[in-house]
Amino acid sequence: MNLLITGGAGFIGANFAHYAVRHGHNVLVYDLLTYAGNPKNISSLKHFVQGDIRDADKLESIFKNGIDGKPFDAVINFAAESHVDRSISLAMPFVETNVVGAVTLLEVARKHTVPTFIQISTDEVYGSIEGTGKFTRSSPLHPSSAYSASKAAADLLLLSYHHTHGMDVRITRCTNNYGRCQHPEKLIPTIISNALAGKPIPIFGDGKQVRDWIFVEDHCAGILAALERGKSGAIYHFGGPGMEMNEVGISNMDLVHLVLRILANELGKDISQFTSLIRNVADRPGHDRRYALDWSESITELGWQPKTSLEDGLDKTIRWWLDNQDWWNGV
Ligand code: NAD
Repeated sequence: MNLLITGGAGFIGANFAHYAVRHGHNVLVYDLLTYAGNPKNISSLKHFVQGDIRDADKLESIFKNGIDGKPFDAVINFAAESHVDRSISLAMPFVETNVVGAVTLLEVARKHTVPTFIQISTDEVYGSIEGTGKFTRSSPLHPSSAYSASKAAADLLLLSYHHTHGMDVRITRCTNNYGRCQHPEKLIPTIISNALAGKPIPIFGDGKQVRDWIFVEDHCAGILAALERGKSGAIYHFGGPGMEMNEVGISNMDLVHLVLRILANELGKDISQFTSLIRNVADRPGHDRRYALDWSESITELGWQPKTSLEDGLDKTIRWWLDNQDWWNGV
């Protein structure tokens, strides 16, 4: 298939672009290259255009040309302002890119009758869930931050296009991702890079917030399954392994200790050298305590399951960081 991958120079988009090429698809990456986009992530790919998903005129020419003159079979939209903390200090860029940008892109896709539009969304649209519960696809949306509210708004607008115009729009919602090429402002890269630099490792509040983590390659497999085997108008959930066995997720503090243990083993160092750097800092305002998704329908409907255990995925991620210090020193 010919795929337009917007936001494809960022963390998940770049991993997906390479994954799609490895699986025989042609891709064109369209990305504004904000602070979060990195041309190095896609330097080996053939087709890249720098541009904004809010720029309808530029999108028009992109859709006219397709890839080597052939039209797109699908648009997969990863482009977003993605960092919750930034949305707390300045919400408007999140509304502009995540809502206005997504609808601008969808409108151009509609005009050009692109067969399928996939929107990459997040578990955060459901808000926080206590205890051992999990959100299902019919759970109400209760976003807590400007980031998650902007993602929820886009999801609803896009689904309205499916309802009103009969467009084949599909939404994927996923738990926390980790892996190669993630921006150093995010939690796992911060733990690794600060530990290596001997800098304090900040943990919000009591560190007991619970999250589910998915290795980015498993997320990419889910998105491709949603494209190849998914249905128009459907929502698909993806999460990490273990959750199907009634695990409840891992607290941020336990995650920090796990990352530091693997890093210390990898470097042959004593873990106390790293754990002594952990500092509890003031909690994020409106911080959700727990996220968890029921993704059992992705097994039955897409034949998808995550393959990578948290320990194995962290091991691969840490090795990538150790082998690619040039990448993150330059970010
Ligand atoms: P990221 O911040 O690493 O990448 C976002 C990319 O979008 C960057 O390359 C940036 O340059 C580009 N971009 C931003 N504004 C743009 C615009 N106006 N026009 C064109 N490009 C623009 O984000 P990520 O972590 O890779 O997340 C990708 C998507 O997945 C986002 O939509 C996010 O909401 C969603 N998501 C992320 C996670 C996660 O754990 N990272 C979990 C679930 C869902």
